[in-house]
Formats: sequence, C-alpha cells, structure tokens
Amino acid sequence: MTAFPAAQPGVAPLGMAVPAAQHRRVFLSPPHLAGGELDALQAMLDSGWVAPAGPVPIAFEQAIARAIGIPHVAAVTSGTAALHLGFQLLGVCPGDEVWTSALTFVASIGPAVQMGATPRFLDVTPDTWTMDVDLLRRELAAAARRGRLPRVVVPVDLYGQPADMPAIVEACAHWGVPVLSDSAESLGAIQHGRHAGADARLMAISFNGNKIITAGGGGALASEDAGLIARARQLASQAKEAAPHYQHEEVGYSYAMSSVLAAIGLAQITALQARVDARRAIHARYRAALHDLPGMRFIGEPNWARSNRWLTVIRLDPSEAWVDRETIRRALAAEQIESRPVWKPLNLQPAFRTAPQAGGEVAATMFEQGLCLPSGSSLSPQDQNRVIAVIRRCFRA
Ligand SMILES: *Cc1c(COP(=O)(O)O)cnc(C)c1O
Repeated sequence: MTAFPAAQPGVAPLGMAVPAAQHRRVFLSPPHLAGGELDALQAMLDSGWVAPAGPVPIAFEQAIARAIGIPHVAAVTSGTAALHLGFQLLGVCPGDEVWTSALTFVASIGPAVQMGATPRFLDVTPDTWTMDVDLLRRELAAAARRGRLPRVVVPVDLYGQPADMPAIVEACAHWGVPVLSDSAESLGAIQHGRHAGADARLMAISFNGNKIITAGGGGALASEDAGLIARARQLASQAKEAAPHYQHEEVGYSYAMSSVLAAIGLAQITALQARVDARRAIHARYRAALHDLPGMRFIGEPNWARSNRWLTVIRLDPSEAWVDRETIRRALAAEQIESRPVWKPLNLQPAFRTAPQAGGEVAATMFEQGLCLPSGSSLSPQDQNRVIAVIRRCFRA
C-alpha cells in the first residue's frame, strides 16, 4: 500500500516526527474528518455500489435535504457543476444577462459565461457583504426600461453570511426573474428562520475540501420544485432517456456524484451542526481577542441571520488602523500561518474586463482592506492564539 504524508496539520503518519508547535503550518480551512468516513467507505465498497448510481448518492441526497430543509436535491461532481446545471435549467442562452454579486468566487458566474451569457456585477452592502437589495431593485427597473432583464440573478451567501433571500426573491419576482442562490459557502447557515438560499428557485452548495463539510469534492443542487431536480438528475447523467438502447432527446453532462464521494459526504454531514458551532466559536474568539484594535472590523450578522462563519474575515479601516491587510498577511505567512485577501471583485478581474457593473466601491474596499483568517473547525485554541498574537504584534510595531 502506498503511504502518503499526513495532510492534517499536527497529525504525523507513523515514523514521522510531529513538527514543533511553533513551526506547524496553520491552514485557512482544511478538511476536518468526522471519524465515520472509513466505515462509510467500507460499507459502500462492501455493497458493490461504487459508481455514480445506486443507494449511496441517494442516501446522501436525502441527508442533504434533511440538513437544509429543502425537499429535492441532486448530488453532483462539484458546486460549479451544480451552478452550471442551474443555469441550464433556468434557460440561460447566448446573449442573456446573468447578474451576480461583485464580491464572490469566479464559479458563481463562470458556467454562465461559458454558455455565452454576459455577466453583470452588482455591489454588496457594507454590513453583510452580500448583494445590495436596493441596488438590485433599481437595476432591475432600469433593465426593464432597457427591455433587457437578466435571465437569472445569483446572490451569494458570502463566507457563510446568508443574503437577504426573501427581499431578493421579492425584487426579482416583480419582474419574473428567477433566483439561483450560490450557497456554496453557507451550508448550515440560517436566514429568516430557514436555511440560506431556501427561498430561491434553485440553490447550489459545495463539498469542496475547504468548505464546512467536504465529500473530498462534490456539490448539490436543491429546490422545492421536484420537476426541476428530476431534470437536473437527467442532465447530470448524460440526458439518457428510459430506453434499452442509448436514447437522447437533448445533450447532458457527466456530473452525477460518485458513490465514493457520497459515502464520505454521508459520514461528514452528521457533524454539520458541530462544525457550525465550532466555526462560530472560533469567530467569537477572534472577535473577543481583536475587536479593541484600532480600525478592526468584522462582517455583521443582522438579527434575521445566523451565519455559519465559514471564514472569519477582518477588515482594517484605514481611518483608524495603522496596519494594512498585507502587513498582517505577510507577518502571518512568516509564522507559517495561511491567510488570504478577500475575493478580488469579479468586475476587477481581467477575465471580465468588458462586463457591465453596478457600483462596486464597497466590494473594492472589502478586497483592499479585508483578510480571511484561519477558521477551520479543527483549529486548536493554541494555534488560534498564535494567529491572534501575530496580529496584535503587528499593531505594536
Ligand atoms: C467553493 C465555491 C464554489 C464552487 O464550488 P466547487 O465545489 O469548488 O466547484 C462556488 N461559489 C462559491 C462562492 C464558492 O465558495
């Protein structure tokens, strides 16, 4: 059997010295194993159902549906694949506009662009860093006057903070525009008493290695609409029709989730609430330990939302702080601690040079001043204290 070096910080395989604590690398959001993964994989292998079919992906889909309180779920190969299927189901065609937040990961819009759509990037609000609903209302009215409403609007639950979905859905419904929620980062987050993204026509989640729950890769598309998810499943497995030979009314994709990933996901999702609690506790510790520093700001949490605090993000307000995010990022890197600037706004990415945008000043400010801190649910208090000490030291120098 091949032996690989340990990926989990501080966990050394047999025969390797455990690195001294002060040199141990601290990662931003590493996978956190729940303990049941090996048993789940063994049960899957024993059953013989290894392919992207059979009872294991179905059991995972049901577990996801229970966790998010949305009845219909298709498990797929990635969050990006889930978004791609969503765009397909909502009829995105070449020349259509698809709107999303300026402040997000490229996958929120990538598949739509590959389908020939024009992206339009809307600014975020400074309190929640999610899509600015007043701006969305104004932009929709202006688009209606131009006679060019978007085919789909894609709000993003950024860093685990849910967007204000009822307000977004209401604004879009007024013009008959469907909402596809990019909830890739927000599994376990709550807004207005429901799961993040719950009121959208479709919502996508991700089980990538850095997310709060991982299947070692993978994603899911969820909806209240059974017909949409049945079509998603059909498209995800090459749009094969029910016939003894291979029959295709349309062309699909090879996006169905493997039973290998689904088995890992099944074991992981049992720990979801514990993972949310752990990330929220890490966020609370950062806040308590850093809030007194001049110009130190955090993403707000309105009273209608409960973030999963996927990543804790600090923002350094330059009117008070005499240290910037790059100073802190470099100081952390020198101590083997990984941190990352906030998503670079998509309207500032060379790939989208010519895309229309609405506002963008808030997103640009968050990028310039924001830094994501190590927030993995397996982060030890000792390692978190190291992160805190380095940041506090930057303010003394
Ligand atoms: C991770 C992520 C995705 C993509 O998920 P994958 O499973 O990596 O394809 C999409 N949108 C956002 C906001 C993400 O953070």
